[in-house]
Amino acid sequence: MHIEGGCHCGYITFEADVDPGAVRICHCTDCQTLTGSAYRVTVPAPKHLFKLLSGQPKIYVKTAESGTKRAHGFCPECGTPIYATAAVSNPDTFGIRVGTVRQRSELRPKKQSWCRSALDWVMNLESLPQSPKQSA
Ligand SMILES: [Zn+2]
Ligand SMILES: [Zn+2]
Repeated sequence: MHIEGGCHCGYITFEADVDPGAVRICHCTDCQTLTGSAYRVTVPAPKHLFKLLSGQPKIYVKTAESGTKRAHGFCPECGTPIYATAAVSNPDTFGIRVGTVRQRSELRPKKQSWCRSALDWVMNLESLPQSPKQSA
């Protein structure tokens, strides 16, 4: 599936081809911190199918508990997380942050990982009062 995306301020834009069956949620505590939210939603793209169209992401290299290093690309102007890759010069895969994708409503997660650190309320949002726009 062809997708287009970009950061909030418009400095970074990209296009890619992804498998909509490979969308996943990560509940790990690093993803919670790095997104500033409850969990992260990512879809992988092989490097030859990911194309940066404008801008140059700033890279933050994160070292996991296991020692694995991941390079997180984000917009240096507005801070939007764009992707993560292996921390090598020519990574095989770009893990694209689904919230930056214009077609994100079509990219439904197919699995979740690191559920042991999932926030317990996250699995049950339906009971909360709902408002179509900003709550009063
Ligand atoms: Zn930006
Ligand atoms: Zn994670």
